[in-house]
This record gives sequence, structure tokens and C-alpha cells, in this order.
Amino acid sequence: MLIKLSGGTVYDPANGIDGRVMDLFIRDQHLVEPPADNEPIDQHYPLEGKVVMAGAIDLHTHIGGGKVNIARTLLPEQQPAYSRPRAGRMRSGSGGIAPSTHATGYRYAEMGYTTCFEPALLPVNARQAHMEMADTPLLDTGGYALLGNDEFLLQLIAEGAEQQTINDYVAWTLRASQCIGVKVVNPGGISAFKFNQRALDVDDVHPHYPISPRDILRTLSRALHQLGVPHPLHVHASNLGVPGNYLSTLATMDAAEGLPIHLTHIQFHSYGTEGDRKFSSCAAQIAEAVNRQANISIDVGQIMFGQTVTVSGDTMRQYANHGHAHPRKWLCMDIECEAGCGVVPFRYRDRNFVNALQWAIGLELFLLVDDPWRVFLTTDHPNGAPFTSYPHLIRLLMDRSFRNDMLARIHPDAGASSHLASLDREYSLNEIAIMTRAAPARLLGMTDYGHLAPGAVADLVVYHREGNPEQMFERPMLVFKRGEVVAREGAICASVNGSTHVVRPEYDQGIETRLAEWFARYHSMSLRNFGISDDEMADGIGSPVVIHPCASTSHP
Ligand SMILES: [Zn+2]
Repeated sequence: MLIKLSGGTVYDPANGIDGRVMDLFIRDQHLVEPPADNEPIDQHYPLEGKVVMAGAIDLHTHIGGGKVNIARTLLPEQQPAYSRPRAGRMRSGSGGIAPSTHATGYRYAEMGYTTCFEPALLPVNARQAHMEMADTPLLDTGGYALLGNDEFLLQLIAEGAEQQTINDYVAWTLRASQCIGVKVVNPGGISAFKFNQRALDVDDVHPHYPISPRDILRTLSRALHQLGVPHPLHVHASNLGVPGNYLSTLATMDAAEGLPIHLTHIQFHSYGTEGDRKFSSCAAQIAEAVNRQANISIDVGQIMFGQTVTVSGDTMRQYANHGHAHPRKWLCMDIECEAGCGVVPFRYRDRNFVNALQWAIGLELFLLVDDPWRVFLTTDHPNGAPFTSYPHLIRLLMDRSFRNDMLARIHPDAGASSHLASLDREYSLNEIAIMTRAAPARLLGMTDYGHLAPGAVADLVVYHREGNPEQMFERPMLVFKRGEVVAREGAICASVNGSTHVVRPEYDQGIETRLAEWFARYHSMSLRNFGISDDEMADGIGSPVVIHPCASTSHP
């Protein structure tokens, strides 16, 4: 099957193409060089006046693992039926703020997203999380294994284990849980909460292990760097949501000691204590630090006004916020010796000073960070807002007058204390393509994704060129998944299953001797049953693995 897409205006920043009219060819699920003149074309799509980009990649969205199911169960009233026009082969689903697996896959694909990463995959829950993501149609997926509150690692760091031993454990965890990266949430803080501590700043000492969050950050970022894992340590920093926490965020950046580090949902970590209400924007200080340090990347975690639900491994901070639950129901739990989980529904209000300023802080960060390759478009779905708000967010970034109209509607004191009105920047289509395609693929080491050169996987999107970016990104004309049209005019027309993206750094299997003893003593599962094999991923779970190279293994 040879497919020709002719005359579209292509935005492919990974290959330096910024709005060039060109033809693209697809064969056997990949983009290919132009064929010989006499070769027959099986399908031809004339795309004059249309915009073509690679399929979008969301590098931080909570779509799998136990917490999402808890949110779905806790809030049945927030699960309206999903009722767009659908093809005959499709399944039922429910929509809302934490959509069912099927509705999640369909709604992402309708908007031109073809790959999504679950950022908080607990290794002990990995099997269930991968099953849930395999049940999410149309999306390639992957997970970041949560480390840094697991007792095994804290014990290793506390006893002064060699970095090589840590590296072996990290690499083993990635292999056993079939993950592509490692995330740390409130380093050491979730564990400290189990010892009844209510805060743990970057240089505070853990109540049981004589180590600090800084030790955990340094050790894990070094491990990933030495193992050659493309994705840097993915960090949910200390003191989420706490006024004055920008200092913790700056200290977190510092703890990486110049090695690559990704700070997620940084909007929730950019707060000062100025003003009558002791809550202010420190977006300028954070953006300045990001602009100055090339080893740092961020995603924003923009909030949008309306009902949502917060789901987080950060039990310490979720417990602190449970009084704000709307509707008034919530839960927190510990998860074995590894981490915790908190689910707190929340409604962000534009007439509430703090919420309104949070909205402005997120937009300030987008507009003040200079390099679109190091800032990513997220709402930390569903924590800041459901992912279905992305087209609206893109319009806020691309259209200054629309942004100022929205700014005029929020709490007036919040508007007055924000610099947002003075920021003229409008994102270009090329910059949107960078932050939603090219840059996430690069930051994850996915060389065949996020771009449109011959050899790339044929995940791509065709948009109508509309004056209103919200309409443009909400209803693409065509979405191709591995060369097959799966959505037309914003409605799903076919369903295919995705793959799971992983990395495989090498390690000394001697680490398993100590792990076997640890599992026998403390875990509910034996080590033998913990790891997930490639066969199980492909056959039992139904999402075969795609392995991306690590620097240490591709250059022996
Ligand atoms: Zn998150």
C-alpha cells in the first residue's frame, strides 16, 4: 500500500521544516522516500491549503495505574456517556474528567495525539497499568517507573551503596516494570509521610533514613545519566502547591548538579509569598533559571477553570489539600513499601484569587521560557484540567488578544498581580509542533517518532488552517496512526492498538540476589512474579514493546 499526501504545508521542526509545501509518501506504516515515477499510488490525499504535522505526543498524562481507576470510581457523576459519532467496531466508554480507557484513546486520537506517557507508574502496579494502557485504543503508550520513595532505594542510599549498585537497581526496575524512564515524586516525602511527617524540603533530613531529597535527586539523576537512558530524571518537586515553593524548585534544579533533569507540572511549583494574600507568581524567577540552565526541561501543568480531579502519588501534599476537595470526598493510601496515592476532586474557579493566579502563572511560564524545545504543553491531566482542554490552551498561547480577553475575566486582584498582560509573545505553528511533537520525541529518545522524514513511523495529522487555533486543533481533518486513517473531521473512523515504548539499560543481575531477599521479607509478591516479560506484554497484556536504545548499550 503506497499513500501519497500532496501539497500540504508541512511543519516538521525536527528536520528544520517550518511551513514548507511538500509531498509525503507512506508505505508499510512508515514515511518513505518519493517512489519511482511509474509506481502506482494506492491512495492519494490532495492537501492544498492544509497543515501537516507528526502525531502529537503527550509526555505527561495520567491514563493508567490504580489511581485513575480510583478517580473513576470515586466520581461516577463526572462520567457522562461519550457520545461522538463512532464507527461500528468501536467500544462504549464514558467521558468527563477521568475518561474510561476507550474514551481516553478516542478523544486523544480525535485531537491528533498518537502517543501518551503515564508518568507515575508504580513498579508494583506495572502489570495493571500496562493492561489499562493496552486497553486504551489508538495510542502508543509508555510509563515512567516511580522511584525515590521506595524503601529499597532509600536503604541503599542511606547505607552509602556505590553508584553502580544504584544503577543496577534502577536498570533492573526499568526492565521489570517495562518502562521508558524514571520519575520521582516529592523525593523521600511520600515515605516521610508514612512516618507522620507533614513536609520535607530539599535539604531536610528524612525522619527514618539519614538522607535528604537532594541526595535522592542527585543519586537518581546520576544513575539515569550513567545508564544512558535518554529521558532525564522526571521530577515532581518537593512542596507542591505551597506558597514560597519556588525556592524548593530552584534547589531541585541545583540538586541535579548540571545533569539532565525534567521538572514536571512546574506551574504548581512556582509560587511566592508576596502580597496581602501571601501568594504570588514566581514564574519569572523559575523561567530565568530554566533559560539559564540548558540541562533543564519542564512541562507546565496548566490549570483550566472548571471541575477536575487531582490524582497523585504525593500522599503528603494530597493529604494537606484534602480540605479543598470538591465535591467533598477524597482518599489517600499507602502502597506497599513503594509509595502512596491520593485522589482529591477539585474545581478551579476564575473568581478565586489563588486559582486565577495559578492560571496566569502557567501561561507566564509558557511565555517566559525562551526555548520551545525545553517547555512542554501539559495540564498534568487530569490534575490541572482534562487533556481535552489542549486546543483551548493552544489558542491562549497563539492568540494574545484572546488571552487578554480571558485575563480580563479572572479575579481582578490576580490579574493585577500577574505580568501576563505585558507579555506580547504568540506561539507560532512551528513552536506548537516543537513542544507537542518534535521535542517530546527527542527528550524520550524516540528517534522514529515526532517527525516526518523517511523512516519515521507514519503517525501524522492533517489540520484545516483556521483563524481560530482552538477549532483547528480540536477537529483535525485527518489523523493517521501507523499509516491508517483513524479519525476524520474530529470523529474516529477506525481503531488500532498501540505499542509500549521502553528502554533497556544493561545491568549486573547480581542485584537480584539482594532483591529476592528483600521481596521475600517485605513484599506481597515474590521477585519471580514481579517482572513482566516481553511475551506477556505482547500476548497477555496486548501491547508489544518497542525498545529504544540507551547510549551505553548502543555504543559499547
Ligand atoms: Zn502528573
